[in-house]
Amino acid sequence: MPKRGLFEEKIPEYVAKLASGLEKVEDFDSPVLARHTVEAIRRIAMRLMNLKGNVIYCPLCGKGPFTKKGYYLHLIRVHNEELLEMVIEESERISLTSKRTRV
Ligand SMILES: [Zn+2]
Repeated sequence: MPKRGLFEEKIPEYVAKLASGLEKVEDFDSPVLARHTVEAIRRIAMRLMNLKGNVIYCPLCGKGPFTKKGYYLHLIRVHNEELLEMVIEESERISLTSKRTRV
């Protein structure tokens, strides 16, 4: 298991904010995170957006409906570890792909 540093602690929070719509995915950036980590956070957040009409259902466990704020809190409380794992996995996939296709 990768060591959990200060930035990793913040990752589930970033993902939850974007996935719940409290912050816009395209506006997200972080000067302290690697490029492929930022990209991974955006991708996972988009995968977790699950708006049906005006309500949000959690795609990971099916619970809901949530408000934006409620979904944000649900994600960081219930799925904290999963969010981090998904981002790490996606970020590894991106860094492998970009190495292969680098010009
Ligand atoms: Zn859930």
